[in-house]
Amino acid sequence: MKIAILSRAPRSYSTQRLRQAAHDRGHRVKVLNTLRFAIDLSGDEPDLHFRGKQLSEYDAILPRIGASITYYGTAVVRQFEQMDVYTPNTASGITNSRDKLRANQILSRHDIAMPPTAFVRNRADVVPAIQRVGGAPVIIKLLEGTQGIGVILAPDIKVAEAIIETLHSTRHNVLIQKFIKESKGRDIRALVVGDRVVAAMRRTAQGEDFRSNVHRGGTVERVDLDPEYERTAVRAAQIMGLKVAGVDMLESDEGPLVMEVNSSPGLEGIETATKLDVAGAIIDYIDNQVAFPQIDVRERLAVSTGYGVAELVVHGDADLVGVTLGDSGLRERDITVLTLHRGSMVIPNPNAGNILEAEDRLLCWGRLEEMRTMIPDRPKRRPRVKKLPKNPLPEND
Ligand code: ADP
Repeated sequence: MKIAILSRAPRSYSTQRLRQAAHDRGHRVKVLNTLRFAIDLSGDEPDLHFRGKQLSEYDAILPRIGASITYYGTAVVRQFEQMDVYTPNTASGITNSRDKLRANQILSRHDIAMPPTAFVRNRADVVPAIQRVGGAPVIIKLLEGTQGIGVILAPDIKVAEAIIETLHSTRHNVLIQKFIKESKGRDIRALVVGDRVVAAMRRTAQGEDFRSNVHRGGTVERVDLDPEYERTAVRAAQIMGLKVAGVDMLESDEGPLVMEVNSSPGLEGIETATKLDVAGAIIDYIDNQVAFPQIDVRERLAVSTGYGVAELVVHGDADLVGVTLGDSGLRERDITVLTLHRGSMVIPNPNAGNILEAEDRLLCWGRLEEMRTMIPDRPKRRPRVKKLPKNPLPEND
């Protein structure tokens, strides 16, 4: 295949290793500076220019987009997607993972365990939010921080309040997060490629620091992950839409807690710690997938007026329990079941013989009118804490 590595750091360890791995496998490989692309929207077909000339044909790209050029970089990746060039990490996956809050919002919807986190802007909401995540000591994170800069451990509520107020006054967005003390300055980085973890390491902070970032002097060692940690890492990457990702997890008493999913994981630390050929695994995976460029399903299907995607839930008292999918009558109503979710199990493309069980969730494509009648009323959200404060504040105080 012919592959382009999108990177502004051709001499960095990761880029060099990836280029070498592609070369050693007989692929044609180029490292192209992401900022030298011009996106051309004038013609009939989506197009790209590089250094002023029309870009030649590529089978795949491997984006390594740094945080400082996320906007332009993802625009270039999106253009490759429009041109049906395969990319393991989509523009939307990169965008989603880049923002800690956005990543948290997406992952928490899918039952991925994360440290309890809150996001507030008003001063009056700060203390209740700290209490909701478990009280002091508490972690405060700058949304835009990397390499451990902007991650603060506040020992008590007063200090936390003061820090947050200061950051808000300088227009910084901050996350309030429970301090997972049993993780003791350690975390796990799992390198996910496709649907498996190809390498994993544990980082341990230096001295008393609670932050284990290598840039802060942390040390690394290879680990063999428990299946629960592997599953969590792979699911987190999949949910974010990333086929190449570094998933950071804290080891809590309750199991893995995902902190972050990184779309351009560095390879030096993990290859050195594990002695594994991560770059080779990434190139082999891309080579395997190159025939399947990303298709934006929503974009493509949105043109079918009157049709859409919906999730139908099989309720315990419904006629569908114990009935096979073939006898469910869904097909006759112009509804196709794409996946069947049962607990944490997923059955893609279920066949007519699958027997439905209570609480199965069916991801369907079909006539909206037909599906509307099958969607139950939205359940009312019950407040988690029912007690009213003794002196309720006026709502818009
Ligand atoms: P960055 O993206 O800047 O690396 P992280 O969110 O990964 O920031 O945090 C940096 C380090 O701080 C982590 O590697 C971990 O060791 C520690 N840390 C982060 N969040 C928590 C937390 N909620 N509880 C305990 N330690 C944490």
